[in-house]
Amino acid sequence: MSAVMVDLRNVHKSFGDLEVLKGVDLEVRTGTVTVILGPSGSGKSTLLRSINHLEKVDRGLIRIDGVLVGYRQRGDKLYELREREILHQRSQVGFVFQNFNLFGHLTALQNVVEAPVAAQRRKRREVEPFARDLLERVGVGDKADVYPRQLSGGQQQRVAIARALALRPKVLLFDEPTSALDPELVGEVLDVIKELARDGATMIVVTHEIGFAREIADTVVFMDAGRIVESGPPRAVLDNPTHERTRAFISKVL
Ligand code: ADP
Ligand code: MG
Repeated sequence: MSAVMVDLRNVHKSFGDLEVLKGVDLEVRTGTVTVILGPSGSGKSTLLRSINHLEKVDRGLIRIDGVLVGYRQRGDKLYELREREILHQRSQVGFVFQNFNLFGHLTALQNVVEAPVAAQRRKRREVEPFARDLLERVGVGDKADVYPRQLSGGQQQRVAIARALALRPKVLLFDEPTSALDPELVGEVLDVIKELARDGATMIVVTHEIGFAREIADTVVFMDAGRIVESGPPRAVLDNPTHERTRAFISKVL
């Protein structure tokens, strides 16, 4: 079995009085795909954001490739990392959002080039050919010099995936990457994600696309009300769920 790339231990997170993550444990092995399912409000986005230290957890530890996220440990005390160190850590994680979040004033190519230049201080001249290759790889090589508003949602999301890949991340996080797309554009984005899975990328994907989960997930995780209720291979969780809540959810989204 491969090494653990992402490791969450007893992660708790509240917003005011609302406890959103209630002790989440999750292990994602290198080169595997974990799909997270669960109803709206169950804490899926908060979980992904915590992995990137976009949310600070209240309790518990998160490690990426063995390294603590957001903190340095000395003895039994934790010290939060400085902003610059956090940004460096964050640049090891590719994050793809529901609404693409491309910079509207930058071309597709510039969007992809910007992240490694800003976050990893790589040279623009060196990054550019790599960025062009990435756009090619996600099927929008001919759109390099076009602005986001001139692209379809599916094309924008593929540029966003290229941008995430430009960081050469250790893990890719997708938060409902196809939820904002017209139905006829969903397939082209899922195909790109499937291709990355085949190439051995380590990924965590929040989605309601059950067919996609069945096809590419090594592990399917079902979350409800801030807890992982059920987790296992797709056949077990999707076709033979042991928990009533999982069963009810799956019958609704199918
Ligand atoms: P999901 O992605 O599964 O729909 P979220 O992680 O987005 O769930 O949200 C879980 C709960 O936390 C929801 O009730 C949501 O309203 C709440 N929540 C999320 N982010 C914040 C925030 N920044 N401040 C207050 N409440 C939040
Ligand atoms: Mg969400």
